[in-house]
Amino acid sequence: MIRATLLLCALAASAQDWKAVEEETMRHFQTLVRFDTSDPPGKELPAAEYLKKVLEAEGIEVKTFAVNKDRPNIVARLKGTGKKRPLLIMGHTDTVNVDPKKWTHPPYGAVRDGGYVYGRGTLDDKDNVVAALMSILLLKRSGQPVDRDVIFLAESGEEGHTRVGIQFMVGAHFNEIEAEYCIAEGWGGLRQNGQLKYVGVATTEKIPYRATLISRGPAGHGSKPLLTNSLVHLSAAISKVANYRPPLRMNDTTRAYFERLATVSAPEDAARYNALFDPARTAQVQDYLQANEPGHYSMLRTSISPTIVQGGIRNNVIPSESQAALDIRLAPGEDGPQFLQTLRDLINDPQVELVRAVADIRPAGPPSPLNNEAFRVIEAAGRAVYPGVPTIPTMMTGATDMANLRAKGVQCYGIGPAVDDEDTAKGFGPHSDQERILEAELHKFVKYHYEIVKNLAN
Ligand SMILES: [Zn+2]
Repeated sequence: MIRATLLLCALAASAQDWKAVEEETMRHFQTLVRFDTSDPPGKELPAAEYLKKVLEAEGIEVKTFAVNKDRPNIVARLKGTGKKRPLLIMGHTDTVNVDPKKWTHPPYGAVRDGGYVYGRGTLDDKDNVVAALMSILLLKRSGQPVDRDVIFLAESGEEGHTRVGIQFMVGAHFNEIEAEYCIAEGWGGLRQNGQLKYVGVATTEKIPYRATLISRGPAGHGSKPLLTNSLVHLSAAISKVANYRPPLRMNDTTRAYFERLATVSAPEDAARYNALFDPARTAQVQDYLQANEPGHYSMLRTSISPTIVQGGIRNNVIPSESQAALDIRLAPGEDGPQFLQTLRDLINDPQVELVRAVADIRPAGPPSPLNNEAFRVIEAAGRAVYPGVPTIPTMMTGATDMANLRAKGVQCYGIGPAVDDEDTAKGFGPHSDQERILEAELHKFVKYHYEIVKNLAN
């Protein structure tokens, strides 16, 4: 009886507290969005200084690490008993660039309108920065002893300049962020027609493995066609690799993804996702996905997209060299050098060379498990904050800073706020012409994030 009364008091108090938490979240969020941290050039300094000030005001010690003083990374640590290894919570303070002409509201205005906050970084990634900030603040204020250190990292340079961000932190200061688990940007809830369908958690991602096709042959006069024309050989090679279907390569995450997605999909889609596992029907389903759901098709295998073609100097000269860039994304477990060899055998042309382009910045690492404490806690937080929908592990086809951490043995889980599926097509997604977040979903995300951090820390 006493316990029940106490519980009711706690619930009543927490409902009231959440109102204050929402106001505070919105204040920090709008402030962060209003710093123009577009990258390049980055200039994350004011955002980092603001976060530092907020954390220090709560008595949380903050350290700054920077390759370039305008582009600092900040690390704050809440000490635990040390019974368990640390938990890292992180977000990046830089954003991609904007074309201001495309914006209805100013891109760094953080304008609230019709239930949304508009601005660059609202979905990528100041939402994760503010959620991680609120989680560490709330945990500190709760006064609860925690079993593991909770480390907050606001990093710079995620949008293509990881040299000043995660590469630097992992390479030079790994001891400051070393953790058993990390929570970072990734997937999130997916809404269709305003209805939440599922909550996605990114547990692995494809690894970029860029390569270049180089075709060579004698130069000549355009009036005398040559069988050895480097452009002709290049185009044949491009078409061979682009039409190649690498073998199906599923992992625990993608298997669970399609199985669980089927449970919340329309009957026709569900039948297709289930048929992926049926040897008699899988090829047909893959054809369908390739034409209609390219993101899903890419989740099934290593993928190749030719992206840049270069060659030729003038209309009447047969060029002696031409090149094409290939954006290859390895499925987890794929051996890069061996994969390139497979492509060379397929091209089978002594005039065409396939070489690895500049070393990629994303090392390969094992997928984060689905059967551990972290994933169970994340699923439980999903049930608490987003009742009635499943948590679905996902594989990102794009690359994130989690790759650098997974390669060092940190088990990373990528989360985010729920978004409307339709909103991306309207041009309001991450990296889109405009960007916006649903206010209600930002607040739910903070709750979800804190639920995960609190329960993983204790
Ligand atoms: Zn991002």
